[in-house]
Amino acid sequence: MCMVVTRFAPSPTGHLHIGGLRTALFNYLYARGSGGKFYLRIEDTDLARNSQEATEAILQAFEWVGLDFDGEILYQSQRLKLYQNYIQQLLEASKAYYCYMSKEELEALRESQRAQGQTPRYDRRYRDFTGTPPRGVSPVVRLKAPLQGEIAFTDGVKGVVVVQARELDDFIIARADGTPTYNFVVSIDDALMGISDIIRGDDHLSNTPKQILIYQALGFKLPNFYHVPMILNEQGRKLSKRDGAMGVMDYKALGYLKEALLNFLARLGWSYGDQEIFTLAELLKLFDAKDLNSAPSCFSPHKLDWLNTHYLKATSNAQLEILLRDFDLPPAFDHLNAPQKDMLLSALKERCTTLKSLSVGMHEVLSPPASYDSIKNPQAKALLEDFMRALKETSLDNLENTQTLLHAFLESHALKPGAFMPALRVALLGKKGGIDLKQALFVLGDQALERLQTFLARA
Ligand code: GLU
Repeated sequence: MCMVVTRFAPSPTGHLHIGGLRTALFNYLYARGSGGKFYLRIEDTDLARNSQEATEAILQAFEWVGLDFDGEILYQSQRLKLYQNYIQQLLEASKAYYCYMSKEELEALRESQRAQGQTPRYDRRYRDFTGTPPRGVSPVVRLKAPLQGEIAFTDGVKGVVVVQARELDDFIIARADGTPTYNFVVSIDDALMGISDIIRGDDHLSNTPKQILIYQALGFKLPNFYHVPMILNEQGRKLSKRDGAMGVMDYKALGYLKEALLNFLARLGWSYGDQEIFTLAELLKLFDAKDLNSAPSCFSPHKLDWLNTHYLKATSNAQLEILLRDFDLPPAFDHLNAPQKDMLLSALKERCTTLKSLSVGMHEVLSPPASYDSIKNPQAKALLEDFMRALKETSLDNLENTQTLLHAFLESHALKPGAFMPALRVALLGKKGGIDLKQALFVLGDQALERLQTFLARA
């Protein structure tokens, strides 16, 4: 089998959104999984819509998720001369021609076709033109598309796609100002970069027959195409901002792990039996473009959360600590000793969905309560004062001591946990919910006493 060579070819018009990252991921997995090449090409010929910031945003997202590419980034804006050479070559071979029809003439033609109930289409009037060109018109260049027959190809996702030649006109490959058009540059680049397999969104399916004609006119070998269906929301509609059509980096800011996001995206349009959890190494091993699904995939925020919970649990505390540096951490975190940090991270990662909620959970334990839930227990104050005395005599430097302290206290006062623990929790943490109390006590260490004093002083 020939080497698989793929590419991701974004137009830098804004953030890299998750649909784009999914396309990039499929191409990456397919190439890298088989020892092939994966290239990045920035399609930045539309100077009015493209920006350097958008290119940087794409690169930043790639860096975050760890998708690396081979060689240098290819920028289409730096290749205009090369595209023009190919246009010249087609003109010289009579496979393309200058068309001098003005915009007004073209519009008038379309108008009359519409009036006759026909599909508006260029009538090829300059295809075999040998006369003197009209003065003052900068011509466009059009490709001589076949007049009959069909353009057929087998798409790896859609199956056999057939387009009748009569449905295509002699489309423009260079505008009046000499700049090449979108389908032209894509085809030239894919061919020159030696791309063997193109995986992209099915919004590009209608471009493919035109690109095939360009390949054929220049004698280039056709790549394999795979047009993947769009990602839909749970209601079956096009993904909108509200559903999560956000920039990739927004997911980072929300506290999703790259492992979870990549796993999630890999399963949007690709499957391997009913397996849901895949490490990147597994994806590289198992992904095959022939397993891409032809049915639209559905973006489920719950599934992303579920995966993130899974990957959070699997992340070491040392790694979590590094990742959490991008979030708002309570200053007290840095004053904890290693076992306290470990305890807090272990306790929180069991119950949090994102790094962001983990950082919130840290504040709940480590930032002194700003307010207190109400306590209905009339004995609470006296019990808490007693507990404070017991606490003064105990060192909270291991979890066992902490547990013994709690048990001994309950026993000596003949209390059921429910008769005291909620009050203790509110006094220490301000709220009734949260991590296990003995773990919280251990993490608070000396702070526990201060918290109790503060609480009792105000009660
Ligand atoms: N630049 C196109 C886009 O961002 C992709 C072109 C392609 O993959 O062929 O949608």
